[in-house]
Amino acid sequence: MYEGLKPLLDIQELDIKMIRLMRVKKQRKSELKQIESLRVELREQLSLKEEEIGELGKHIDVLEEKFQELKEKYKKFESQQGSVKKVEEFNALTKEMTNTEREKAAIETQTSNILDKKNAEEEILEKIKESLSASEKSSKELEKEILSSIGKINKEGQQLKNERDSVIGKADGEILQIYERLLRNKKDRVIVPIENRTCSGCHIALTIQHENLVRKGEAVVFCEHCSRIHYWQESEAVEGTTVATRRRRRRTVKT
Ligand SMILES: [Zn+2]
Repeated sequence: MYEGLKPLLDIQELDIKMIRLMRVKKQRKSELKQIESLRVELREQLSLKEEEIGELGKHIDVLEEKFQELKEKYKKFESQQGSVKKVEEFNALTKEMTNTEREKAAIETQTSNILDKKNAEEEILEKIKESLSASEKSSKELEKEILSSIGKINKEGQQLKNERDSVIGKADGEILQIYERLLRNKKDRVIVPIENRTCSGCHIALTIQHENLVRKGEAVVFCEHCSRIHYWQESEAVEGTTVATRRRRRRTVKT
């Protein structure tokens, strides 16, 4: 294997762990967001319902005021009737009174309909309040659990970062830069072994010339299909794990 790649294999394993960790963190954060948005939605429903009920209440007040006015009007007609002398005037006032009564009845019906509606809305409001408090209670638990798991993830991430910082010095700056660019691009292993004359990154078959070039290990060789960096695994069935690589490296050092 090209010497310059060896330290990068360890860095790569740390980076892959970090990428996976950050994916989990993102997932958990989006769970938090979902819980929060559910709560916001319920609160919005609640305030909308309260507003609606408030409007109905105002409407009822207006109707009640009107009802009182009509009552006053009726009384006035009644007292006027006591002092009129002419039959026509008396009859005219009776007519007015009948009309006023009719108006009063109409307003009463309207008020009672709106009251029914207000009561129904108040029942819905209670239901929303109940589900909000239930969801707040259960989401508190869940949020606590998620926050603690994010805390653990951050800790683990810090450890990975420390570990990476401690080995980064062993890597060649130029190759490190290429590697980091590739990693940002693929978000997956970018230094990969050739297996059965195939790139184990993109699984496309390679030429024997390419394989030979990688086997020689004299330079960094890129996959012509996916741009990943290739290395040659000397031992038979080992996968590109750190353990396998370390074992092999020790053997290489001894010989
Ligand atoms: Zn490839």
